[in-house]
Amino acid sequence: MSLIVQKFGGSSVADAERVMNVASIVTDTYKQGNNVVVVVSAQGDTTDDLIEKAKEINPKASKREMDMLLTAGEQMSIALLAMAIEKLGYPVVSLLGWQAGFKTNSNYSMARIKAVKTERLKKELDKKNIVIVAGFQGINKYEDLTTLGRGGSDTSAVAIAASLHADRCQIFTDVEGVYTADPRKIKGAKKLQEITYDEMLELATLGAQVLNNRSVEMAKKYNVELEVLSSLKRVPGTIVKEVATVEKMLVRGVTKDSDVARVSIIAIPDVPGIAFKVFGKLAAKGINVDIILQSVGRDGTKDITFTVARDNGEESVALIKELLSLNDNQIVCDTNVAKVSVVGAGMETHPGTASKMFEALFEVGVNIQMIATSEIKISVLINEEDADRAVAAVHKAFLPEDE
Ligand code: ADP
Ligand code: ASP
Ligand code: MG
Repeated sequence: MSLIVQKFGGSSVADAERVMNVASIVTDTYKQGNNVVVVVSAQGDTTDDLIEKAKEINPKASKREMDMLLTAGEQMSIALLAMAIEKLGYPVVSLLGWQAGFKTNSNYSMARIKAVKTERLKKELDKKNIVIVAGFQGINKYEDLTTLGRGGSDTSAVAIAASLHADRCQIFTDVEGVYTADPRKIKGAKKLQEITYDEMLELATLGAQVLNNRSVEMAKKYNVELEVLSSLKRVPGTIVKEVATVEKMLVRGVTKDSDVARVSIIAIPDVPGIAFKVFGKLAAKGINVDIILQSVGRDGTKDITFTVARDNGEESVALIKELLSLNDNQIVCDTNVAKVSVVGAGMETHPGTASKMFEALFEVGVNIQMIATSEIKISVLINEEDADRAVAAVHKAFLPEDE
């Protein structure tokens, strides 16, 4: 007998028909003699709708109260799925995150899982129940509800799989697996049979929302093999694991991330210590900086440009303006930008990857504002309006359709 963790995202449980479809996938797995733990997200756009509701009342609501509100979405879907499974005549129990033992830190809205206390889960499995767990949520040391950040249900599923040493962790979604680009946007995007944790981590971090990046990080740490597959079509998906056995591809995928703001500090004194002051201040406020570019000093001044998450743009400007006593012309924040990246472990040994990407962008007339490279990825910052066109062009250059 195997223990299988299955996670279903919001679109997979969006309405009554979809909930019944999930119930049939889950009970089929159970019927085959497996123990099954199921993690579900809130239905469809419920989480976004709840955020809108909050904004109507208080756009500056505390993160604690936001978490209290958002956990309600998953509470609805676990009960509905459990009812669907009851209807099919199988033993089932639904559990909120805290009932399933999810202990987190107190970083409301972006909490980290500290432990999963598995006693209750094990007890329910011993009773032969199908266990349905609310994803994306836990409880902190003050007994307050917390959430794990958008897309956090993937992490809930991996955490359960790791804690219970599950035999399989299946992430069901609305596409057939992990593709070389978003299959909803890029014609010719190809489904990958397998991908390594490291490559998937880059793809997820750089904008492929099909898996949450923290879930991939955790899967790698605890060696949980993931399968990403469709809840609507029963065909094999993509396996995420340590070593992919299929031939190493130069490029695994192309991503777009619009959650970016570019901050430029212009004509500041070219003296030692400025970068340290600026980035030290941002770090102290918990603001994560991504790409950094500093110009060569000229006439005693220099420019520094960097990117942060879009929500952090205005705050970064305010902090640095005060820190360096800048006027309005010396610091600007542009949110009309996006980051497009190519990812692939094969790239590190291949010269010419960067120039091929730049050529593809040149051919469709896309201007590059910033560039960042690592062994496994090349990212460019461009105008947001150009991003879809850029992804299509870069994808075509590296992963032509007839290959
Ligand atoms: P769920 O509700 O199941 O968690 P998400 O919306 O979070 O689903 O993630 C699935 C979506 O991710 C797909 O519908 C697809 O549009 C998008 N996506 C972006 N990049 C990729 C990619 N490289 N491969 C597959 N899907 C991708
Ligand atoms: N419902 C949450 C969200 O929309 C968590 C998830 O779907 O994974 O972000
Ligand atoms: Mg998701």
